[in-house]
Amino acid sequence: TVATGRSTLLPAVRSFLSSPRRLLIDGARVDAADGRTFATVDPSTEEVLAQVAHASAADVDRAVTAARKAFDASSPWSRMTPRDRSHLLWRVGDLIEAHADELAQLEALDNGKRVEAARDGDVATAAELFRYSAGWATGMEGATIPMSVPGRSFHAYTRREPIGVVAAIVPWNFPLLMACFKIAPAIAAGNAVVLKPAEQTPLTALRLGDLLLEAGVPAGVVNVVTGYGDTGAALVEHPGVDKVAFTGSTEVGRKIAAAASGNLKKVSLELGGKAPNIVFADADLDTAVAGAVLAGYFNEGQCCVNGSRLYVQRAVFDEVVAGVAAAANAITVGDGFDPDSDMGPLVSREQHEKVLSYLRGAVDEGAVISAGSTEAARDRGYFVTPALITSVTEDMAVQTDEIFGPVVTAVPFDTEDEVVAAANDTVYGLAAGVWSRDLSTAHRVGSRLRAGTVWLNTWHADDVTLPRGGFKQSGWGRELGASGLDDYTELKTVVAELR
Ligand code: NAD
Repeated sequence: TVATGRSTLLPAVRSFLSSPRRLLIDGARVDAADGRTFATVDPSTEEVLAQVAHASAADVDRAVTAARKAFDASSPWSRMTPRDRSHLLWRVGDLIEAHADELAQLEALDNGKRVEAARDGDVATAAELFRYSAGWATGMEGATIPMSVPGRSFHAYTRREPIGVVAAIVPWNFPLLMACFKIAPAIAAGNAVVLKPAEQTPLTALRLGDLLLEAGVPAGVVNVVTGYGDTGAALVEHPGVDKVAFTGSTEVGRKIAAAASGNLKKVSLELGGKAPNIVFADADLDTAVAGAVLAGYFNEGQCCVNGSRLYVQRAVFDEVVAGVAAAANAITVGDGFDPDSDMGPLVSREQHEKVLSYLRGAVDEGAVISAGSTEAARDRGYFVTPALITSVTEDMAVQTDEIFGPVVTAVPFDTEDEVVAAANDTVYGLAAGVWSRDLSTAHRVGSRLRAGTVWLNTWHADDVTLPRGGFKQSGWGRELGASGLDDYTELKTVVAELR
């Protein structure tokens, strides 16, 4: 392990990084059966942060077996009352909060994001999500349903029961939070989980595993297997898994849907996006510009709901583009531990190359870089400057593909019909936004956009109470909110004849 040179690192973070990180299986820290490890890298410095166990199919099998045993009808977990599960989840929220600075530093080191953003955003929301989910543990109600059979009498009702062993596979953009998006509702409903974090950012998921044990989550209820796509694929294929909850790219989501079909696992998918952000001429332009900047560049643009396609009504196009370009140019890109940084690096070398190659490709196709650069922002680390691209046509790769970086395209439009058609002309349907002072325009256009979340005169306004998910190829199912629990429960209909 290479120690990082940052002076502000907490002793707990230094100590966590000082030894190889092992898998969490059945409540114990174990090496991969074949001893393999991989390095996780600090994207600001390109230094290795830690060596992490690389789980093979044999380790995945051990983890699934542990989860099955934990879920068993006679296990302590299956006998735990909803109220005790609720208290347990609340304790996890408290522990996450108590370790907020440590988790935020680990997240900032592994992902690159600003340490304050990690603490006030990712970690705070993760704690809140466990508390919110604590309420659902006792709130999984069914219904009594009338039946009409002449001459006979029935009592029919529904029960919501856990699905079983959930394989949770998550990406690197909000590593801790994405893990909690799956674990909190899954265990609130009484499932057991095998979590596979992204290979770029395994650290906070491993630390979360410690905190879950400390809170009293029984051994085997949550297991953490770190590794690459092969580890995830072994999980998806495992016959002992009942449900796959995946967040990641549409490409991998498609593979997962196919691989999970063997034993017809339940599958929920939170996939990619290419969100349209529509500014009408009657919008409050200062707010719309600030909103477009947040939509495009928050979390280094590495958000599935990032507002990457900015459509601006022609009368105000130049003004809005100038405003967004000026704001993009004013963003200070730097190390996530530097208090002067507004934006950290991208997560990995691969992502850095991908984003720069989209920018170069756009220039080759005739687009104009109105802010940003096709060159790396620094010699070392995976930094790019936030980019705004104009003179874009709808067929350019930069306009059709999810780039997953701080890249916004701006396109003028004239009529509502024209912009709605352009906005919906995508395989994705995760998020969309409308800016207008006319509430009728905002709600009417919002209702015409084919997306799972529509923001009106705002962006990235989120809460753990709000269901999120995708239309079209952006996914299957919904996470969070009251409907978020549906993906982690089976509905049982019970019919009793009364004689
Ligand atoms: P990815 O699909 O490459 O990887 C996601 C996870 O899947 C990782 O843990 C990876 O190891 C694993 N994986 C890779 N191949 C696998 C396979 N064949 N079988 C099983 N698991 C496999 O995505 P990424 O690059 O890590 O993340 C970026 C993507 O995530 C973007 O497309 C983004 O839109 C999406 N995302 C979506 C949401 C949402 O809520 N819809 C949220 C965040 C990110």
